[in-house]
Amino acid sequence: MKAVIFEQHGDLDVLKYTDIPEPVPGPGEALVRVKACALNHLDIWVRQGLPGAQIPMPHILGCESSGEVVRTVGEAGRIKPGDQVLVPPGLSCGHCEYCRTGYDSLCPEYRMMGYHLQGGYAEYLKAASANLIPISPDLSFEEWAAVPLVFLTAWHMLVTRAGVQPGEEVLVQAAGSGVGSAAIQIARLCGARVIATAGTEEKLKKARDLGAHDTINYAEKNFVEEISRLTDQRGVDLVFEHVGSKTFEKSLACLAKRGRVITCGATAGAQVTLDLRFLFVRQHAIMGSYMGGHKELLDIIKLVKRGALRPVVDKVYPLELACEAQRRMIERQQFGKIVLRCS
Ligand SMILES: [Zn+2]
Repeated sequence: MKAVIFEQHGDLDVLKYTDIPEPVPGPGEALVRVKACALNHLDIWVRQGLPGAQIPMPHILGCESSGEVVRTVGEAGRIKPGDQVLVPPGLSCGHCEYCRTGYDSLCPEYRMMGYHLQGGYAEYLKAASANLIPISPDLSFEEWAAVPLVFLTAWHMLVTRAGVQPGEEVLVQAAGSGVGSAAIQIARLCGARVIATAGTEEKLKKARDLGAHDTINYAEKNFVEEISRLTDQRGVDLVFEHVGSKTFEKSLACLAKRGRVITCGATAGAQVTLDLRFLFVRQHAIMGSYMGGHKELLDIIKLVKRGALRPVVDKVYPLELACEAQRRMIERQQFGKIVLRCS
């Protein structure tokens, strides 16, 4: 089969479009013909090499895919050949204290497609049958592939961890990213007033089309001052953070008293400083979040099928141009998700 692989960590030029043997599913697994696979920043971290992380080599990236079941081996539940399915990013044991409470990503056995396991930058992948989720033809394979990781991450952050409430004011940083485009929709669905930031007018317009009430061009304006102006000096109740050190301290400065910051990423730097005096006097909370649980993903998929949430596909590339697709993400040119068409 055709696949994009790398045999050693490095820059974009380590990615190779080549022929490799088709994966062989074991008991409880399915062989899936990959129709589409969405890109994530994790692809870049894994390609470059994460400290202490052991990954299978040669490696196939791609955390989230959609496709058709070719065959199953052993116990497959409701899944059968010919089904159109979503292959979600995470896999966990299903019975530890974290899995039972919806915190699958804290499971000691938590593994991710395209990271600990081979992913979807290929014509075929194998995955646990129990993890596959049937999809409807209302959306294209490319749109379905763009759903799981960003909506799950944003849902776990806003709904499960931060408990966003109707009427709250929420600042969504970097609306042009996949996770930002999901956060705007979820916060809006929960009845919050959404203020989104982005670096170009074109991205800000798309953020408003997705439901943002107000937008701030961070390339032209100081977003801390703009938040103060837009909230009558009160500040926002919640900041949705995933950028990192480039924005984190300013995000804290945007908070109202009793406000909270929820973060899932550090794409622009992982080290920040913190003035504890502001934290305790203003009674702020800083929360971390990482991925989410299978049950949350099933809830999200219901909302997608109902049209209440919609995936945002930025651009679709053929599999062989995975390198160009990653370059677009590194250069932050996208609004929403970049997707590979794999077969
Ligand atoms: Zn578990």
